[in-house]
Amino acid sequence: MAAGGSLSRLERKAAARAELLQQEEQRDRRRQVSRIWRKPPAERSPEECQVLSESDDVVRELERRRKRRERLRRRQEEVCDEPEELKRKAIELAAVVRSAKHLVIYTGAGISTAASIPDYRGPNGIWTLLQKGRSIRTADLSEAEPTLTHMSIACLHKHNLVQHVVSQNCDGLHLRSGLPRTAISELHGNMYIEVCTSCTPNREYVRVFDVTERTALHRHHTGRMCHKCGAQLRDTIVHFGEKGTLRQPLNWEAATEAASKADVILCLGSSLKVLKKYPRLWCMSKPPTRRPKLYIVNLQWTPKDDLAALKLHGRCDDVMRLLMEELGLEIPSYDRVRDPIFMLAEPLRPGEEGTHSRKPVAPPRGADLPAAVAPREEPPPARPGGWLGRGCAKGARRRKSN
Ligand SMILES: [Zn+2]
Repeated sequence: MAAGGSLSRLERKAAARAELLQQEEQRDRRRQVSRIWRKPPAERSPEECQVLSESDDVVRELERRRKRRERLRRRQEEVCDEPEELKRKAIELAAVVRSAKHLVIYTGAGISTAASIPDYRGPNGIWTLLQKGRSIRTADLSEAEPTLTHMSIACLHKHNLVQHVVSQNCDGLHLRSGLPRTAISELHGNMYIEVCTSCTPNREYVRVFDVTERTALHRHHTGRMCHKCGAQLRDTIVHFGEKGTLRQPLNWEAATEAASKADVILCLGSSLKVLKKYPRLWCMSKPPTRRPKLYIVNLQWTPKDDLAALKLHGRCDDVMRLLMEELGLEIPSYDRVRDPIFMLAEPLRPGEEGTHSRKPVAPPRGADLPAAVAPREEPPPARPGGWLGRGCAKGARRRKSN
């Protein structure tokens, strides 16, 4: 030690070298222990057993990691209840739906998978896959239709058994199932709606095509202008890392009010990993005994499972079919001719036809639609790769909209 407590240059170098050596030794030891630990016990030599018994700390760490991996793997697994078990649970759920005073439904990607719509933001969601540079192969979204679950929810609302629906899906299928606008909060936006935020109140434009083809994270202009004030329109999608500030179609006001009044929350087809981050939806400020009762329908684990009054491991369409049967309600079938999107949609103005290239939602051939919304020309051809094909989305990323 040099005078004054500080080390000389040489001493510092030597100390650093010794530390490096020590770290390397530790790494080697860990590698050796890990190799022995992975062997079946019967195949370990006496020397190897000796090494293990002298490396308690490393073995404990390896065990801890193995358990964590196992837990994560189990959470990813899709579990299905046996048919009788699912039926019994659906009967219990039907009793809850009948007696609930204020029932709110939270929906996720799992209710749309039957419509061949991939999750927007989940681990296999479109944005996640695109970020990893992987291509998207999916059915053309304009062909997607509300599922049995969407139709059942609209029917439950019509019968006053469900008061509000909060969805993290952007696919617009709740709206297209006939659920009134006021009864939906689309927390992450709706891919068929663009808005003018320069107009007060914001002016909404429902379209029959996906408005997001030129938009991306932090770039929301769609390339079309407001018919009233001429300002640029923006999409309504809320990406990861963005805060949704639009009043509609997010409708946070109604979502929060519904949650505060709810005595029962039914979660359908959501991993709840994103929804759990919105404390307002779970009345976390209330004491646990005064929070709404939770019912969860999902094939995989959710972070709210332990708090649920009942967890149903089943596909949403299967559970809803059982539930509606138990309630004695007939599930309305979806009729494209009556799809509300055709009534709500704002037609493009002359000169705007070339502003999108995605295949629009089209009424069946020969359907009798009001003149205002009937397509005036043949829809443009779909882009290769279908909805959100990779090349298309990459092009969209490069294009600046503002
Ligand atoms: Zn405007």
